[in-house]
Amino acid sequence: MRKIVLLLFLFLNIGVVSAHAEATQYKGMVTGDQTFLKDEKGSTIGTISKGTEVIIEVYNDTLVKLVHPESDLFIDAVAIEIVEETITPENVATIGQVKTNSMYKLYQEPSPESLIVFTGGVEYIFQVGNIVNGYYEIQFGGTNVYLSVENAKALFEDTYAFDIIGNDLPIYEWKNGELVHKGTLAKNTAWKIERDIAKYHIIRIGSKEYYVPIIGTFPSNKKPSVSVPKSAKYPLSLVTERLTPVFTKDGRALGTLNKGSLLHIKGIDGRQAIINFYGKDARIFFNHLVHTNAIQPKQAFSHPETGFYLQVFAAMYPEFTELKTIGKSVEGRDIYALKLGKGKKEILMDGSLHAREHMTTNVILEMLDTYSANYLKNSIYEGYSPRSLLNNVSIWFIPMLNPDGVTLVQSGANGVKNGELSTKINKGSTNFQAWKANVRGVDLNDNFDSNWDKINSTVKSPSPSGYRGPRVFSEPESRALRDFVLSRDFKGYYSYHSSGQIIYWFNFQKDGQATRDITIARNVSSLTGYRVVPPMFVVGSGASTDWFIKQTKMPGLVIEISPYVGNKPVPLANWDSVWKLNRKVGLYLAREANSR
Ligand SMILES: [Zn+2]
Repeated sequence: MRKIVLLLFLFLNIGVVSAHAEATQYKGMVTGDQTFLKDEKGSTIGTISKGTEVIIEVYNDTLVKLVHPESDLFIDAVAIEIVEETITPENVATIGQVKTNSMYKLYQEPSPESLIVFTGGVEYIFQVGNIVNGYYEIQFGGTNVYLSVENAKALFEDTYAFDIIGNDLPIYEWKNGELVHKGTLAKNTAWKIERDIAKYHIIRIGSKEYYVPIIGTFPSNKKPSVSVPKSAKYPLSLVTERLTPVFTKDGRALGTLNKGSLLHIKGIDGRQAIINFYGKDARIFFNHLVHTNAIQPKQAFSHPETGFYLQVFAAMYPEFTELKTIGKSVEGRDIYALKLGKGKKEILMDGSLHAREHMTTNVILEMLDTYSANYLKNSIYEGYSPRSLLNNVSIWFIPMLNPDGVTLVQSGANGVKNGELSTKINKGSTNFQAWKANVRGVDLNDNFDSNWDKINSTVKSPSPSGYRGPRVFSEPESRALRDFVLSRDFKGYYSYHSSGQIIYWFNFQKDGQATRDITIARNVSSLTGYRVVPPMFVVGSGASTDWFIKQTKMPGLVIEISPYVGNKPVPLANWDSVWKLNRKVGLYLAREANSR
């Protein structure tokens, strides 16, 4: 058994206090069965265990005085037996002070299983040399004994930051007259103190205050890494689906968030969401999050914003989504495709093939948002069961086939790399609202091959619309769609455009194929009220759906979502009506495809 040594400094009276280094010291041992430690008023503060070794500066027949940093302590001399003389005192650095609970124990080792050296009976202040495995290392002179951090409260003076020591600590919010548990802060993390109220530190983030118990914290010499909460680049609120661990960029634990916490997502880093965690930039895994309504659709979606949301959905729901980059635009922008559902059968829907028709991206994103939320809850949406439907037939969404063109329409020539060329094609005009083509003036819906060489067009050179390109499939955007279609086995392809509230379906289908395809067109017409365009027998076409029909013998529709608005994007004022008419279309088409 290792004997513990307490350094006890003895003074007979105040008048003989001398420099410690010159003092003579003795080593003694506590021999009494119940030896009390007393303060300067003679009140007992606790009991020193029998067998504990102590070091005494001056020995007296009646009372030994322990010099303690905060106040004087005494022990009956009769309970001490001198073991050895001439001991030199050590000076040991301290990191702060703690005030004990009224009941506490000091242990020989930082473990409740180790020997009890001292049993405290009243609140008392000790100097702390270190914090070891959830224990304060208490210095009675120079030798260490241990006090559980749960049994003492650190004394904060001018310190404005605290460390979490021992175990993770709960964090609360004051709501309707009570403290509501929000999650935990991890040990070994430093936080900034706003002020203290009773037994709590207050930390403040924005206008909100949070409560952390003072017991279990210690003044921090670390600079708490408080970052000014930045607003998210794109608005996105998600909810924790279960108790969620929160950590730093390098993976250090910061704490937890309770199930049901509403979070504003600041960004995405792979499968991790970047959030603000009580003032710090922090990470959680997206698969701990769910959405109910992630996308606010009444706005123009840029290409980066569209990519952001697609990545969020893919990271949040890896079990029923799949995100692919099917190719890159002329300027290198990613062309994304996201699969929704686990069905082996697949259909394809796209939007923003024509640049100015970018409200079609909104339709695709809102379908993704709505269908996936209902899939998640396994709820019925407008008479459809998204989960059972999409478990049979998956929908691949390409929200923006022409990202350069959309960027040109939304941000002008300065938003793209080929702005000078685009401006030249635009006859010097900086107004790109009428632009339909890709960034170098090829109309992608004239670049696919349905007897492309027989296209009858007066447009012979790059143009905001109607130029078929120098060769069939000359453009990376049309090739990306072609190659994606050829790599899969789509049971139908439905391409959203924006002008005229009409539906195209015909590319010389015959017999059963024609009956099937016009039936689908008429059913979409019943849902939307859009008019079905009768066959026009155009021999040469470069439209994506015409190529798809010819290539796969499967149905292909062009669905034009808005009343004619002229040569410009559909105004946002039309959105509510557009969504109302189209909200069921994806689910209908998935259900329809289940028969093939
Ligand atoms: Zn169009």
